[in-house]
Amino acid sequence: MKPRVAFFDFASCEGCQLNVINLEEKILDLISIVDVVTFREAMTERTDEYDIAFIEGSINRPMDEEKLKKIRANAKVLVALGACAHTGGVNKLRNQWPVENVKKEVYGDADIEGNPLFDAFQTKAVDECVKVDFYIPGCPIDRNEFARMVTQIAMGRTPKLPTYPVCVECKKNENICVFEYGEFCLGPITRAGCDAICPTNGEGCDGCRGYLDDPKMNAAKDVMLKYGITLDMMMKKLNMYNYKKEGY
Ligand code: SF4
Ligand code: SF4
Ligand code: SF4
Repeated sequence: MKPRVAFFDFASCEGCQLNVINLEEKILDLISIVDVVTFREAMTERTDEYDIAFIEGSINRPMDEEKLKKIRANAKVLVALGACAHTGGVNKLRNQWPVENVKKEVYGDADIEGNPLFDAFQTKAVDECVKVDFYIPGCPIDRNEFARMVTQIAMGRTPKLPTYPVCVECKKNENICVFEYGEFCLGPITRAGCDAICPTNGEGCDGCRGYLDDPKMNAAKDVMLKYGITLDMMMKKLNMYNYKKEGY
């Protein structure tokens, strides 16, 4: 029997799910090894019986956390799909303000008290609520990496993410380092796997795939200071996808 796969979304732009739908011909290969049983963005059928759950989005309300815990209880394998699920992503930027101030800014004087739809707490990544078995990083995810990881999970293998930085892929692409023309890049501390798409197109890496397991933060800071990047600029860039990640 093929593993049954379900997709769920929380606070997100749904761009990662869209990238799955955009797999084009690769989707036929995937359908031959898994059964997609729930995928709101692509089909109307749904079920609570599945083996592998893909979670897109960050967690922002008690009702979301409760739903996520039920999904975790149903799934044999749970995968965080994309930066919002993996690190909290850009959604987590709002954690720099008290949640009551954020609600006031967004909802103004509307009467939201007691309505669970508006009962927001500080944004959490998926692994701050439940155990995550695997991560597919990126904003959005890389669809080839997704296809490879689904195949490995379906075959009962443990998919591995690159343990080297974006700089390695950037050098392989023979790019001129963007620091040389005044751009600022988080490639030295960010997990590779996107083929250094941003620097290859002349933009510094924003770190959407999350930090390496052992990022050399002090070395990265030295490089950035050497190129005139202030601590404030550095923190803004670091926070975009990795707001207050433990230890940095
Ligand atoms: S990780 Fe990026 S593309 Fe994916 S859902 Fe979040 S904001 Fe959208
Ligand atoms: S552009 Fe960024 S990823 Fe490429 S070599 Fe320079 S710092 Fe590394
Ligand atoms: S280069 Fe950096 S920001 Fe761009 S996709 Fe890769 S990890 Fe994300």
